[in-house]
Parts: sequence; C-alpha cells; structure tokens
Amino acid sequence: MDKRRIAVIPGDGIGPEITTATLEILEAAGFKAEWIYLEAGQPAIDKGRPPMPPETLDAIREIGTALKGPTTTPVGKGHPSANVALRKALDLFVNVRPTRSLPGLQGYFKDTPINLIIVRENTEDLYAGIEFQPHPDIAQAVKVITRPGCRRLCKYAFEMVREQGRKKLTAVHKANIMKLTDGMFLDEFYAMAKNYPDVEASDIIVDNCCMQLVIHPEKFDVLVTENLYGDIVSDLCAGLVGGLGLAAGANIGEHCAVFEAVHGSAPDIAGKGIANPTALLFSALMMLRHIGEGEIADKIGAAVLKTFGEGKVMTRDMGGTSSTFQFTAEVIRNLG
Ligand code: ATP
Repeated sequence: MDKRRIAVIPGDGIGPEITTATLEILEAAGFKAEWIYLEAGQPAIDKGRPPMPPETLDAIREIGTALKGPTTTPVGKGHPSANVALRKALDLFVNVRPTRSLPGLQGYFKDTPINLIIVRENTEDLYAGIEFQPHPDIAQAVKVITRPGCRRLCKYAFEMVREQGRKKLTAVHKANIMKLTDGMFLDEFYAMAKNYPDVEASDIIVDNCCMQLVIHPEKFDVLVTENLYGDIVSDLCAGLVGGLGLAAGANIGEHCAVFEAVHGSAPDIAGKGIANPTALLFSALMMLRHIGEGEIADKIGAAVLKTFGEGKVMTRDMGGTSSTFQFTAEVIRNLG
C-alpha cells in the first residue's frame, strides 16, 4: 500500500497520549501513512500563536484529511475555541457522532442494543459566536440559522441514512419556541424528506428527545440537529454506552474532513497515562472508512470489541485499572 499523507494534530491535555496510542494501533494493523504533525491548542498558544494557527488550517486544506486530538477551551474567559475556528474556517459543516453498545460494558443500558448516529450542524447556531453586551447587566447572543445551511445538513443526513442502509431519520429541534430559526430547520427537513420517500422522517422536540433517549435509546436510528442541541444530546448519548472515553466523531466538509473524539482535553487526568484512547481510535476508524480503508478499520474494530468483550484490560473510566499503554498493547495483541 502506498503511503498517504494524513495531518495529525495531537492538541493538548490528554491529546498527545491518546494520539500516540491511536497511531500505534493503526500502524500495528498495517495502515501506512506519512503523518504530518500540526500544532493547535496550548502548544500553539505557548508560542504566542492563536489556538488554531492559520498555517495549521492551510496544511489541513492542502492534505484533506486530519486526525485531531482535543484542545482545551477555557470556560467564560480566555482564548476562543480552536475547534469552532477549525470548523468555521474549513467549513466542516457536519459533525457525525455514532453511539453504539459495546460488549462487556456495565451500566444501566448494558443489555440494550443501542446503535444510533447523531448528525450535528457544525458551523451555525449560537456557535456563530456573535455575542455582545449592550449594558453591563445584559449579555446577548445571536442564534444564526440559514436556509442553505439547513438544506446541506439535511441532505447529508438523508443520504447517510440511505448509504448505511438505515431506515429512520429524526429531526431534533425546539421549533415550538424558536419559531423562526428552528422553524426554518424543520421546514427544510420536511422539504428534503420529499426526495427520500424510502426514509422514515419524523421530528421530536429536544427536551422530549432527551427523555426518550434515556428511556428507550434503542428506538432511535439517525438524529439530525442544529449545533447546540447536537453538542448536548451527543454527550448524553455517550453516557448511555459507557461515557466520553468511547465517543467518536467526524467533522466533514466539501473539501476536507477532520476526525476527533467527542470529549475534551480532560485536564484532570492529563499526563497520568490513564486516559482511554478508544474515542480517538474509533474516530480514526471513521477516518479509515472515509478514505476507503474499511478492511483495516474492521480489523481494528474487531480487536477493540474483543478487548472489551474479555474485559481483562480496561482503563479506569471503564471500571478497570489499566493504563493507556496497557490497553493499547492489548488491542494490538488482539489484532492477531
Ligand atoms: P469540552 O468542553 O472541551 O468538551 P468537557 O468539559 O466536556 O470538555 P472533558 O475534557 O471532555 O470535559 O472531560 C469530561 C470528563 O470526562 C472528565 O472528568 C474527564 O477526565 C473525562 N474524560 C474525557 N475524556 C476521557 C478519556 N478519553 N478517558 C478517560 N476519561 C475521560
């Protein structure tokens, strides 16, 4: 196999640890790539650069495919989110977040077969970052929803349902309150649904959706939603199947794609060698499938399932005592 070029952004916090683990597993499974390392997050800030430096964006644009570790976003103050900058600059308009039950996991839903996907809009909504303070006691934010943005998101979601041989697509919204913004999203969803008579299209209000997800998660197939609801609902879904250490994601645009875990930089456990690399690894498997390397992705996926099924070598977030290194070595051993 020819070596292809893939951009790698280790990020900060637990990012470098889980990136090393993920690349080791990919290489052990026979995937050869020229990894082009790029800076973002704290390493860039330490050098007086913005959290998402323009040269990193240029390199991803040129290479087309990137695997990204988490980057810290300070709460309430400090530098703006590197992720929001990345998604906007590269117009990565859709964020795909699958949630699937894994063998051997404990928890409330251990016997419930969950297999759903969240398709989240990635560039609009309150994440447009338009905030202002007209008075010291008043802060305002603008929720931006555009018709073309809704159309391309819904088209992507309907196409994905078809391609993956799934059946149902549910629009998640709050159009009873946000009549113009979420109302526009819902209108475009049902307009697009007319082109896909083979897909069962329905909608649900976001608060009811959260309740239904924690009662009957097995009833959902694919959910499509705006940026903020998608962010919150996908963390809820991660919790259904074992937590953030397992939740993978892909940011997809017309010209490039960036694959990253749903979780953040987990500063509370950074540098301790105990982070679970599975979420980034699963994101890398989405990347492999995206670039036509589905066979290697299946091989690694089987090794991870075997590792979870045996349950002997699990990281702490999964109720085990193993380190990132031990878990990585076990997955590599299970590649056979
Ligand atoms: P962000 O706002 O950047 O998404 P967050 O506030 O959601 O970040 P995270 O960094 O995702 O926070 O961490 C939330 C909790 O989940 C922390 O306790 C963290 O240690 C834990 N966590 C996140 N990722 C992992 C992982 N890969 N392995 C183990 N624990 C993790």
